[in-house]
Amino acid sequence: MQMRCFCVTRHGQPLELMHEEIPQPRGTEVLVRVKAAGLCHSDLHLWEGYYDLGGGKKLSLADRGIKLPLTPSHEICGEVVAAGPDAGPVQTGMVAVVHPWIGCGQCAACLRGEENICVKPQSLGVMRAGGFADYVIVPHPRYLVDLGGLDPVKAAPLACAGVTTYSAIRKFGGRIHETPVVVIGAGGLGLMAIEVLKALGGKGAIVVDVDAGKREAALKEGALAAIDARAPDAATQIAQAVGGGARAVLDLVGATSTVTLALDSSARGGHVVIVGLMGGDITLALPIIPMRPLRIEGSYVGTLPELRELVALMRDGKVRPAPVTSRPLTEVNAALLALQEGKVVGRQVLIP
Ligand SMILES: [Zn+2]
Ligand SMILES: [Zn+2]
Repeated sequence: MQMRCFCVTRHGQPLELMHEEIPQPRGTEVLVRVKAAGLCHSDLHLWEGYYDLGGGKKLSLADRGIKLPLTPSHEICGEVVAAGPDAGPVQTGMVAVVHPWIGCGQCAACLRGEENICVKPQSLGVMRAGGFADYVIVPHPRYLVDLGGLDPVKAAPLACAGVTTYSAIRKFGGRIHETPVVVIGAGGLGLMAIEVLKALGGKGAIVVDVDAGKREAALKEGALAAIDARAPDAATQIAQAVGGGARAVLDLVGATSTVTLALDSSARGGHVVIVGLMGGDITLALPIIPMRPLRIEGSYVGTLPELRELVALMRDGKVRPAPVTSRPLTEVNAALLALQEGKVVGRQVLIP
């Protein structure tokens, strides 16, 4: 029996439709029939083959140990159809979202439960075959989070957009109850951030984006204010909207201009969490960090317990799914181009 998968065979070239044998689960593995697979901005980096480090420098994916051909998509929902002999009791027919941020299971980070920052990551759709296929192998059933009747198309983005946003917002701790969070970037993650802040009982979000359509979508989603990042006085507008400088800034873009804006609009004692991987660099006078003082923190995807918490919030109706556009898997290349051109509001989810 064969299955289809869409693979990166050469960076920057269209994904190639390949036909492969349906993999048989071995050991603790589980075979999942894909019902929905989200397209993430980091799939664009995988496809292009590098991250922009600024100053003309690039981090190539080959240097990160990523080999081609590769089936992307780490936002996978599907139905359990088979399990290996050592998988333990596995409920076939269960529809689950797959935690893709899988580690080696042995390093210090994995032992702390932070598989997402493992030194030898095995992430689905990055190091191992992902969801742009009819089937995917998951190394262990514990990575499956039961959807309990949630729509797989709407739930797929939880695996990356959702858990990334959730994990980043959790890093602000109690601040979210004291002050609105400034959210830079109103794409899929930005809209999710607004939802998560509501679900956690936060003061809300002040959204910043260059795109008027995306600002409008954020206001519809419940943002307290939406500010044009290109306005010459954007930092002042942000500081005023928060009331005396931002205490919590979530940068979902991660570009030179956005991190600069995040720092410029921060109050003394401000906390900036950077999630986006757009790339670039900044020059920062070091005395500013202790004297302001500033807290600058990175956040990379999220943990399995965080994904479970987020799915529970959605199952309880506390987090509404962010807007998604579903399209057939055969349109994956058009979907990639639309994302590259910045024409997407919400998330694109591909259906095999
Ligand atoms: Zn992602
Ligand atoms: Zn590890």
